[in-house]
Amino acid sequence: MTSQPRSLRASAARGLPETGLSEIFILVLYNVPVKTDASGMSNFTVTDRSRVRRRAERGSFDRELVYAILDEGLVCHVSFVHEAHPVVLPMAYVRLADQLYLHGSAKNRMLDVLAAGAPTCIAVTLLDGLVLARSQFHHSVNYRSVVIFGSAQTVTDPEQKQRVLGALCDHSAPGRSRESRPGTRQELAGTRVLGVPIVEASAKCRTGPPLDSADDLELPHWAGVVPLTLRVGTPQPDPSLRADILPSSAVASLHSASHWGARSGNNTDAKPQHESRHK
Ligand SMILES: Cc1cc2nc3c(=O)[nH]c(=O)nc-3n(C[C@H](O)[C@H](O)[C@H](O)COP(=O)(O)OP(=O)(O)OC[C@H]3O[C@@H](n4cnc5c(N)ncnc54)[C@H](O)[C@@H]3O)c2cc1C
Repeated sequence: MTSQPRSLRASAARGLPETGLSEIFILVLYNVPVKTDASGMSNFTVTDRSRVRRRAERGSFDRELVYAILDEGLVCHVSFVHEAHPVVLPMAYVRLADQLYLHGSAKNRMLDVLAAGAPTCIAVTLLDGLVLARSQFHHSVNYRSVVIFGSAQTVTDPEQKQRVLGALCDHSAPGRSRESRPGTRQELAGTRVLGVPIVEASAKCRTGPPLDSADDLELPHWAGVVPLTLRVGTPQPDPSLRADILPSSAVASLHSASHWGARSGNNTDAKPQHESRHK
């Protein structure tokens, strides 16, 4: 297991060129004030729809935490309304500076709807453990999750498009964009890339053991946390891969480093609190 979590290494690598400009842009577009802490890192402003209500102490508007979760996750769930029907679709994504990028076929319905300006809400979830309580009522999960509200803009500049698509490859296997062929003009033309400015976002994390009520502590049922991590398996070469090509450094490092789960919330030393079933 790597000594530095994937999320943190990725965050460091992504203090990217757009930051200054995009922040100005965000302020102009959304008129949401940005608060900056002593370290210069701005936290997200709490809005009526992003305010964490249930178990509010688990919520956070810390930009660094939100970005760490986004950088560790691999799949987001993107919601939109199309012809009066709510739809949620899982998608790959990558964060670069203050934007979350999605991509897909130029004919993708969801990207079509979002490119036309429809509002969206995007969620990313990392599952850290199953929380098994003595009572059914207090069964839970340990998790770190992010919810983002916003709307998307189409990336039209071919160079930026190529950069985002390379970053998407790097998001799954760091360094992979250098080990693979960039998109052709035709491939780029057939791919739509959208950026969602990360302006209105919240994180929520549950850690620690089950929170059974005192009356239940003597019950004869096992209680505790069963950690969950995402593991990297043994690479399986494409059957048509030339025999002399060995796993590249991106593949090898992915396999040896076991990036995921390095920063799981499985620690069980959180202070017990009374918990209602509704997290
Ligand atoms: C894997 C997983 C499983 C869960 N299972 C359950 C379950 O079975 N039952 C249950 O009641 N809850 C569950 N939760 C918690 C759930 O996501 C909500 O936080 C919870 O339902 C509180 O609802 P609310 O009415 O306060 O939220 P709302 O009032 O609808 O939330 C207000 C705002 O808070 C923020 N917010 C709320 N939840 C989250 C979150 N998880 N991450 C980031 N921002 C958030 C959003 O900005 C949201 O718009 C689960 C969470 C995860 C990640």
